[in-house]
Amino acid sequence: MIRLSTRNLTKRYRRSDRAAVEDVSFDLPKGKLLALVGESGSGKSTLLRLIAGLEHPDAGEIALDGALLSSPRGVTPPERRGIGLVFQNHALFPHLTVEKNIAFGLRQLPRGERTAAIMPLLELVGLSGMGARYPHELSGGERQRVALARALAPNPRVLLLDEPFSSLDARLRHSVRDETQQILKQRGATALLVTHDTGDALSIADRIVVLKQGRVQQVGAAPEVYYAPANSYVASFFGTCNFLPIRSLPHPSGARIHCHVGPPGPSEQPGIGVWVRPEDLELVRPSGGEALAGTVTRIAFQGAYLDVTLHCQSPDTAPFEVLVRHHQPFAVAPGETWAIAPKARRPSGIA
Ligand code: ADP
Ligand code: MG
Repeated sequence: MIRLSTRNLTKRYRRSDRAAVEDVSFDLPKGKLLALVGESGSGKSTLLRLIAGLEHPDAGEIALDGALLSSPRGVTPPERRGIGLVFQNHALFPHLTVEKNIAFGLRQLPRGERTAAIMPLLELVGLSGMGARYPHELSGGERQRVALARALAPNPRVLLLDEPFSSLDARLRHSVRDETQQILKQRGATALLVTHDTGDALSIADRIVVLKQGRVQQVGAAPEVYYAPANSYVASFFGTCNFLPIRSLPHPSGARIHCHVGPPGPSEQPGIGVWVRPEDLELVRPSGGEALAGTVTRIAFQGAYLDVTLHCQSPDTAPFEVLVRHHQPFAVAPGETWAIAPKARRPSGIA
């Protein structure tokens, strides 16, 4: 069942020459966590503000459980949408205890019911017994959980989280995002998470929407955007990706591109290639006549693996670099020549 949907949503700010959000359509099914990712300025917060009802669209529609919330003809006010918000800085009231901060999310309930509702929420976010503390007496991760409990308290139909982990240090960030995912799942919440961090999106989201300059580049689950990116932007956005030149070969069916990795032949058009992840390549001893070989220019030790950069040259293409993420232990030295081969591996989750 689709809980939230946007259709051809466009928003242009005054005094701006391009739209902040343009022709955006996606669906968020009930109980799922959707991550909206993109570089800074790609329109993530604008999209969130449109969904929250804080901005009016210039074109397109937003619907919640099939009922229209926003269109250029009219907009349901934020307080009547049943949508919850969690911000980057968590925005807790410093002069209120944890319990009172959470109770703020329940201010429409009678006092007795409010108190009864707080205990299960404290338990849900693992803060039982900490209700009387003040925000400054909590760690960053605990403050994040209070913000989450406060936003979940009124049972919003959709929870919007705008960069909720960006104020946390790297080590804490990983555990907090995993906890957040667990809490959302336990509660059966439908949530939309905005992040510029591809790791957040890949590790906890059920579905990912990739934005570039206000436009959707791809909508898909983590393995889809990672292994089957819709374009070169998406491919590089989710981590280093090598662009390898190819030699195209005729294929009887005509339906597929049949290719040989390596520089194109003299009669072929240069500039066509395949995108290959560094972990899908390996180095093999050159035996002569390899399609792709290069000289090692850089080796970066990464603990579990080595990142090896090779410089490749051919008479038919401009020189190019290839990054190979090689398993450890592996003996390789700068200046050596190695052949580059694809690793036989089929990604999971892709038909
Ligand atoms: P993100 O959250 O992905 O960083 P934003 O939605 O904040 O992106 O911004 C998208 C674009 O809209 C940017 O070019 C930004 O400068 C512009 N923008 C955002 N808010 C406003 C505003 N209130 N007035 C004018 N331009 C804005
Ligand atoms: Mg933003």
